[in-house]
Parts: sequence; structure tokens; C-alpha cells
Amino acid sequence: MQTDLQAEPHPTENQVIPNPWVQTLKNIFLPEFCLQCGVRLLTEENGFFCPTCWEFSPPIERPFCIQCGQPHQGEVGFGETRNFPCAPCRKNKPPAYTRIYSPARFDGPVAEAIRLFKFNGKPRLARPLGERMAAFAHQEMECETYDAIIPVPLHKIRLRHRGFNQAHLLAREILPAFPNAILDESLQRIRPTRVQSRLADEKARAANVVGAFAVPREQSFDTKTVLLIDDVVTTGETVAECATALRRAGAQRVDILCAALPSLYSTK
Ligand SMILES: [Zn+2]
Ligand SMILES: [Zn+2]
Repeated sequence: MQTDLQAEPHPTENQVIPNPWVQTLKNIFLPEFCLQCGVRLLTEENGFFCPTCWEFSPPIERPFCIQCGQPHQGEVGFGETRNFPCAPCRKNKPPAYTRIYSPARFDGPVAEAIRLFKFNGKPRLARPLGERMAAFAHQEMECETYDAIIPVPLHKIRLRHRGFNQAHLLAREILPAFPNAILDESLQRIRPTRVQSRLADEKARAANVVGAFAVPREQSFDTKTVLLIDDVVTTGETVAECATALRRAGAQRVDILCAALPSLYSTK
């Protein structure tokens, strides 16, 4: 147990985002095209999608739920800008976290970017995804209230296999948006878990992650407000379990910021 909790080094993470000059030269000889509309990409910022397609990837805008972060269907575009809780959040028992925030729906170029980022080893997509998260944070969150930014950890076996933790790369990108926060990696995944989206129901997903996360005994988050970072929050069991471990270590409040939220009304 103790050895499991020791911080794993991230041997390749410092090298995975290539030098921008290398990208520029590469683009001259090996032009890149927007994966959505096919237009030639002229900037190196994204490398996969043109600014227009990227900007029009469905955002989450006010009004959205002040607990799960999901947009309120039918309210957008009618001048309603106050956020309020959705019906399921009002009804269900409150989770260990307080709020989930996300700038985008898991749809269009953002969804494709996350798939490439995570499963096809394209870590430079951390930058444009992180930029969307930071812009949203400036607009919708009280950034100065957070003491620590904590990536949802991967188990060390999966980390070794993938070479990087996508949540850690996103956390590193958005850290400058939170003036009083430090990047903290003491939260550990102490046993491997199965991929949540492949499990049949809520019960199986909750059982899959229960007790999967822990903070080393010497680490205290006493009275701290912390922000957990993940790429996608699908059903919330994973972040709820992380929040439980952080609350057990003393955290006063745990919020979540993720790159995208799948709609609860369509593809679940
Ligand atoms: Zn495009
Ligand atoms: Zn809600």
C-alpha cells in the first residue's frame, strides 16, 4: 500500500509537447488539414482543427446546472443567464464534490480532439483544450479561491502504457488561470479499474471505483478548496470517489473542471 502511494515520476511528460519550430518546419513540408472541414491549417496552435471549426464546437453556455454543469435544455438563447440546479441534482443525494464545470459538450471537434489526445497519443492537444478550460474558468469560476489543482490520477500500469496522464497535462495548462493554486499530485489511484463507460450501469460503475483513490497519510488538505481536473466526466462516479478521498484528507470543498461533458440527453 505504501509503495503504491509513492508519487510516480512522469518520465515522458516533459518531452511530449514538441518544440513549436519543429512544428512549423513540419507544417511546411507536411501540411496539416482540419479534420472537420479539410481546410489547410496555418497556425501551429491546434494542429488538428481550424480556428472556425474549433470555435464552433458546441460550448456549454449559461444557463447550466450549478452542480453537474450540464446545460439546461431549451433555456439557451432565451436571455436566461442565471444558473440553477437541474431536476436530477435537486432530487439526488449531494455527492462528495460541490460542482462540476466544463466549457464544452463532448461533441464535434472537441470530442474528436479528446479521443486523439487520449487514445491516439496526441498530447499537444492539451494546449487548445486547456485554453478552452482556462477561458471558461475566467468567465464562470472564482479562480482565486482554489488552493490546489489536482489531476485525476491514472493507475501506474496505465500511465506506463499511455506514457502520459491526460488529466495531468490539462492541469499543467490551466494552472496559470488559478493565481493561488499549486499543482498537487498526491492523489493516487491505488488499484487498477476498468473503463467506466464500458460498464453496464450505475451500480457497476460505483463498485468499479470504490476505494480506488487515496491520498498519502502525511498529506493534508485541511480547510483547502481544491479543483480536480479530468478530460471527460461521463457519469461522475470517478470524480465522486476522488472527491471522497480528498475530503477524507481534510479538503473543505472539491470542485471539478473537465474539458468536456457528454450530454445526458443523447449518447449515454
Ligand atoms: Zn475546419
Ligand atoms: Zn445537475
